[in-house]
Amino acid sequence: MTTANTEGPASRYDRQIRVKEIGAAGQARIAASVAVVAGLGALGTTIANLLARAGVGTLRLVDRDVVERTNLQRQCLYDEEDAAQSLPKAQAAVAHLKRVNSEIRYEAIVDDINPGSIERILAGATVLVDGLDNFHARALVNEACVKHGIPWVYGAGLATYGSTATVVPGVTACLRCLMPPAALEATLPLTCETVGVLGPVTALVGAWQASEALKVMVGAKEEACRGLVHFELWQNEVTTLPARRADDCEVCGRRHFVLLERGDRLMTTSLCGRDAVQVVPPASFKLDFGLLRDTLSRNLELHENGHLIKFRADDHDMVVFPDGRALVFGTADSKQALSLYGKYVGG
Ligand SMILES: [Zn+2]
Repeated sequence: MTTANTEGPASRYDRQIRVKEIGAAGQARIAASVAVVAGLGALGTTIANLLARAGVGTLRLVDRDVVERTNLQRQCLYDEEDAAQSLPKAQAAVAHLKRVNSEIRYEAIVDDINPGSIERILAGATVLVDGLDNFHARALVNEACVKHGIPWVYGAGLATYGSTATVVPGVTACLRCLMPPAALEATLPLTCETVGVLGPVTALVGAWQASEALKVMVGAKEEACRGLVHFELWQNEVTTLPARRADDCEVCGRRHFVLLERGDRLMTTSLCGRDAVQVVPPASFKLDFGLLRDTLSRNLELHENGHLIKFRADDHDMVVFPDGRALVFGTADSKQALSLYGKYVGG
């Protein structure tokens, strides 16, 4: 018998149900919710850990990347073995969380968030929580969530500072109201590779985001944070900038979903802080994964873990997933990545 909704001191959720803002009714709503965690880096693993323990009914975990040794300093769901095996983050996170809470449903999605995938990823979601590493993907998430009326919680962390905001479509400001495109462009040269990131920064921002997601799930949308919160841990500063919905906002005011309706899939994306390029083939490209594995294994040493193949060629490590998506390491040059992809995978 499941203890998911059982009240009483022996229930695994007893201490949460005792919080008057949650209660038994709130716990039941959490158990009936679908939460999407988009991106499973430092923020995403913190968020997923808290939401799995809180008893979210379905946890949909999305990430395009594999676990690396440099992740372990702050990405709290992975261990050294995951990095040694180059496991996809979504698979490694689910494997870990199943040992934490086996009574909820998990969906691992190893994929890129782009105009071709975001609406499928959002289907049936109660809330999306942002663990992404770039503003292009966040702007796309913002459009899709506003279009479908799904609340989402923005979060970011870098060096010693972080920020977060909660977007409840039609109620609070959306990301576009808060940050016009010019402001987003200005933040782009900073990455966790160039300026680093402290684990406590992402743990703090991720915890705030998980709390906001719980508010959405229990129906306390009025209590959702109405501003853009900024933390500067080294200077001991916490500030909240008031945020107002802009009636003339292109996204939540005029409902122009330019990024979403573009509909094409990006061919290449540089991965934040990774010296790597992701290659996403067009939807029409059908990869024969077994044939690729057989062909490559004739000349190259292949590493396999059931989720992907990894090999080294022309001084670059490459990872290929069964759907044809690939990561090319040791370069930030998309032309070089496409050329290596064409040479070893096809296209
Ligand atoms: Zn807006």
